Amino acid sequence: MIDVLVVGGGPVGLATAIRCALAGLSVTVAEPRGTPIDKACGEGVMPAAVRRLAALGVKPDGHPLRGIRYVDERHQADARFTRGDGLGVRRTVLQAALAERAAALGVPVLPARVTGFEQHASHVTAADVEARYLVAADGLHSTIRRVLEGGAAAGAAPRPRAAPRYGLRRHYRVAPWTDLVEVHLTPRAEAYVTPVAPDVVGIALLLPRPGGDDFAARLSAFPALSRRLDGAPCASDVRGAGPMRQDVRRRVYGRVLLVGDASGYLDALTGEGIGVGLAQAEALAGCLAAGRPADYEKAWRKVSGPAWRLTAGLLWSRNQPLIASRLVPAAQYVPRLFSALVNHVAQA
Ligand SMILES: Cc1cc2nc3c(=O)[nH]c(=O)nc-3n(C[C@H](O)[C@H](O)[C@H](O)COP(=O)(O)OP(=O)(O)OC[C@H]3O[C@@H](n4cnc5c(N)ncnc54)[C@H](O)[C@@H]3O)c2cc1C
Repeated sequence: MIDVLVVGGGPVGLATAIRCALAGLSVTVAEPRGTPIDKACGEGVMPAAVRRLAALGVKPDGHPLRGIRYVDERHQADARFTRGDGLGVRRTVLQAALAERAAALGVPVLPARVTGFEQHASHVTAADVEARYLVAADGLHSTIRRVLEGGAAAGAAPRPRAAPRYGLRRHYRVAPWTDLVEVHLTPRAEAYVTPVAPDVVGIALLLPRPGGDDFAARLSAFPALSRRLDGAPCASDVRGAGPMRQDVRRRVYGRVLLVGDASGYLDALTGEGIGVGLAQAEALAGCLAAGRPADYEKAWRKVSGPAWRLTAGLLWSRNQPLIASRLVPAAQYVPRLFSALVNHVAQA
C-alpha cells in the first residue's frame, strides 16, 4: 500500500505529489493525458506563486511580469509588483516542469482516468491502487467531487449563488508591448493579456456566456486590444473553461481530500488560481505527513480565504453598474490603493 494516490496531474496535483514526496510519503499520480497538458488559463503566475514553485525546485521558462495594468476605454492604471517578478508561462511549460520534478523525485504516473473509488477504514482503493489517502486534484469539474457530493451522507451540493461565467483563451504571435499583465474591462467581460515569450502573448477572455470557437468575435468587444492584435497570426487553438464558479461544501471526506480547482473555485478575475492551489498543496501535504487529514479543512480555509474574499469583492463590484464603471478611473486616480490591492493578491 502507498501513502497517497493523487488523481489529476495538473499543476496542483503535481505540486501536491512533489510536496508529499519531499515529506517522505510514497505517492503516485493518476493522469490520463500525456505531458505536456494544456488548459484554458490566463497563464499569469503571481510573484508569491513563483516563489512557491521555486521552493518545490521548479523554475519554468517564461516571460517576467512586473505588475498589472487595468484599462478601459478612457483610463489606464499601472501597479508594479513590489517584491519580485511574476511569470507569464505557457500551461504546457508549467505542467511539464512540474512533471519533470515529480519524475526526478521518483513519483510514478499511472495513465488512468479515475471515475470511482472505495473507501475503507484504513485505506482507499482506486485504479487498482491501495493508498492510505486519495487526493482529488482533477480540476474544476472534478469527477471525484461529484462522487463524494452524490453520496447520501454528503447531502445536496450547494446551489451556485451567482450567474455563471466562462473563460476562453488563445495565443497570438506578436512581441509583448508591455511587461505588465494588461486587463481590459468592458461592462460585461474582461480580457487578460499575458506575455509568455518574446514573441507570444496569451489572451484570456472572461465572459458571461460560454465562448464557442468564435474568439475573434468575442475579442471585438475590446476595440483597443483588437487593434493591437490586428494581423497577428494565431499561435494556439481556442480553449474554453467553465462555468468557473464551483461552490464546494467541504474538502475532507475521511481519507479522500480535495485540492486545487476541485476543492472549489470562484473566478479567474484576480488571476491567482495557481498560487492558491500551490498553497493548498503545501497545506495538504503537511496535514497528511502529520497523519492529521482532518486538519486540512481549516488549513484550506486559511490559505484560500483571503483570495476568495478579494475575488468575491471584485466580482460584486463588477456587477454594480455605478461602481463597475468607476473601477479603472479609481485605480488611476488613487494609485496607492490600486498598488496595495495588486500587491495583496500578488504576494499572498
Ligand atoms: C480562463 C481562465 C483563466 C485563468 N487565469 C489564471 C491566471 O492567469 N493565473 C492563475 O494563477 N490562475 C488562472 N486560472 C486558474 C487556473 O487555471 C487553475 O486554478 C489551475 O489550473 C488549477 O489547477 P488544478 O491542477 O487544480 O486543475 P487542472 O489544471 O484543471 O488539472 C486537473 C487535471 O486533472 C486531470 N483529470 C481530470 N479528471 C480526471 C480523472 N477523472 N482522473 C484522473 N485525472 C483527471 C486533468 O486531465 C488535468 O490534467 C485561470 C482559469 C481560467 C478558467
